[in-house]
Amino acid sequence: MKTVLVTGGAGFLGSHLCEALLKKGNKVICVDNLYTGSENNISKLFTDKNFSFINHDIIEKLDVECDEIYNLACPASPPHYQKNPVFTLKTSVLGIINLLELARKNNARLLHASTSEVYGDPLEHPQKESYWGNVNPIGIRSCYDEGKRVAETFCMDYKRKYDLDVKIIRIFNTYGPNMDKDDGRVVSNFINQALKGKDITIYGDGTQTRSFCYVSDLIEGIIKMMEFNESGPINLGNPNEFTMLELADKVIDLIDSKSKISFSNLPEDDPKLRKPDITLAKEKLDWEPKINLQEGLKKTIEYFKKGINQ
Ligand code: NAD
Ligand code: UDP
Repeated sequence: MKTVLVTGGAGFLGSHLCEALLKKGNKVICVDNLYTGSENNISKLFTDKNFSFINHDIIEKLDVECDEIYNLACPASPPHYQKNPVFTLKTSVLGIINLLELARKNNARLLHASTSEVYGDPLEHPQKESYWGNVNPIGIRSCYDEGKRVAETFCMDYKRKYDLDVKIIRIFNTYGPNMDKDDGRVVSNFINQALKGKDITIYGDGTQTRSFCYVSDLIEGIIKMMEFNESGPINLGNPNEFTMLELADKVIDLIDSKSKISFSNLPEDDPKLRKPDITLAKEKLDWEPKINLQEGLKKTIEYFKKGINQ
């Protein structure tokens, strides 16, 4: 039985990953400081004797025994990562150093959750892993984007210098149950607004695009990457691309909501286009998403409805 450390395990993606790893027969140690995550996301896992939780900030050193480390700890929604940018940057930079050192000590594999944000406001579309990106180093998104870029650099330098077994995935917009309804990301905002009959808040003119992956697809890809014998980076996401206007229409339609659309300013440095090229993931991991936006939104809406009725 392997012992697997999941940082950020009480968050949206981390909680699904902990559950999937337990189902596969692993012992799971979830580390989280509950900055954006919640014990509610992992409450049903506490009855499993192979699950344990440590409330810890990865900016500080950590000492546990483990065979594998998945590093997901980092606030991911723009309002949350911009709330305390210094904390966000330290989480990516000091956090990855602490975890790489822990991996060295344990001779463990480490998978780092990077992001499509390393491509910034991309000048190449769709984005391939070979694209170096178009990132503002001093803007309001930089604490997240540049932190994630430096963390990738640390991973590859530890691999070259210490022969550490590292994996890097670049996650594109993912949604599903366990997303915090108030975390400010577009899917959770639109569903909440539509369920309550409030205006759907589109930033900018709504022609900017994103490509949305349902959480169960992503988790399958993450675990496949940990089992893969190369370091990547590899894009993981759903290549079906939508404008924010199209997303709003779909959500309104599925909920049969009376909500109207309201427009406000596009935030600074907000990427205009985003779509992963997943050729590498298909070829190397034999992975591609199965759940389309319509189906994934229905499942997510059910989850949010339960929360609103509680
Ligand atoms: P989330 O905010 O729900 O989860 C992040 C978790 O990390 C939370 O539980 C939070 O409390 C914890 N955390 C934050 N800083 C920490 C610290 N210093 N020490 C310990 N724990 C800390 O976000 P998510 O969507 O689940 O994202 C998980 C990871 O995936 C993040 O690293 C994010 O950058 C990456 N990612 C997510 C997406 C997406 O669309 N969901 C896209 C790209 C990348
Ligand atoms: N967005 C929006 N309305 C909202 C929240 C977000 O129009 O209520 C837009 C945002 O400006 C961006 C896109 O939706 O263009 C995706 O935003 P999100 O915060 O989910 O993630 P990002 O991909 O920007 O990190």
